Amino acid sequence: MNMLFERKLAIPMEVKEMYPLTGDLNRVVEERTAALKAIFDGRSDQFLLIIGPCSADNEDSVLEYVNRLRLLAEKVRDRLFIVPRVYTNKPRTTGDGYKGMLHQPNPGEKPDMFKGIIAIRELHMRVLRETGMAAADEMLYPENYQYLDDMLGYVAVGARSVENQQHRLTASGIDVPVGMKNPTSGDFQVMLNAIQAAQHRHTFIYRGWEARSEGNPYAHAILRGYMNKHGQSMPNYHYEDLVLIDEFYRERALKNPAVVVDVNHSNSNKQYVEQIRIAREVMHSRRYNESLRRLIKGLMIESYLVDGAQEVGGCVFGQSITDPCLGWEKTERLVLDLAEMV
Ligand code: PEP
Ligand code: MN
Repeated sequence: MNMLFERKLAIPMEVKEMYPLTGDLNRVVEERTAALKAIFDGRSDQFLLIIGPCSADNEDSVLEYVNRLRLLAEKVRDRLFIVPRVYTNKPRTTGDGYKGMLHQPNPGEKPDMFKGIIAIRELHMRVLRETGMAAADEMLYPENYQYLDDMLGYVAVGARSVENQQHRLTASGIDVPVGMKNPTSGDFQVMLNAIQAAQHRHTFIYRGWEARSEGNPYAHAILRGYMNKHGQSMPNYHYEDLVLIDEFYRERALKNPAVVVDVNHSNSNKQYVEQIRIAREVMHSRRYNESLRRLIKGLMIESYLVDGAQEVGGCVFGQSITDPCLGWEKTERLVLDLAEMV
């Protein structure tokens, strides 16, 4: 192969021994996961918000953000169940650019994978300890999932990974809700195939083991808009799109039909302020149509301390270095409004 094997990394079990979940954090994760499952199987009518920065690029600003989110979540807890987005690995459209804290614990320095593994484990640990909220992360590299699996409350498979067999099979062995995004091309059937695959049992190779998964009945859809052949962003949050995915769900015998609408990315064409209008429109569609009210379980929102985005290396504390995000003030107002609209 044309690559250098630089050093052998510690396996997940060893990293967990070095940085174990302590105190009652195991129980916190169990409780949060149980509450989330109850939303997806319809036993709870709390509405889910997965909300936070596009990328968790800096431990201090992410902690400042999630601590504010914790206080806000308390105010709306009767109606909303809030899961912080703590995304530590970022897919890149062309492969170039900042790949997330896993690769670069310090965005200004060169990649260090061992430091990265420790940094993301410490970050998720602090989020859990300080807020009692088990976070969401993207499973970009299935073989890395076990470095965090004892801490995450929610997992997303991204638009660029959803057609990949190893992501689907690994998702079938995950014990928390896994959201399958529609692919960047927008094909709903690809996403539904991913959900179907993840809900089934499989035997496959995982981290050098012959492994058998149980199937994940909480695998579900995330609509994030798509790109057409002219490279234009096309939304898929409008009423007609939601009715269509509802019909497609009925055509398949899938467990716990559920949709989360990602209001940024190709749905907003990364016009981050539009997330407010899009979120409100989805809530309206839910109120208008009883079947959609049952199907649409939540929203994914990109939000951080400061509006917009900056270049990697920029020094605005709490402003995204990947996709532009809603700042804190707009976020707070939106969350309080959404609680009224459930
Ligand atoms: C993201 O959630 O920041 C992201 C990269 O999403 P997608 O896979 O939908 O592009
Ligand atoms: Mn993003």
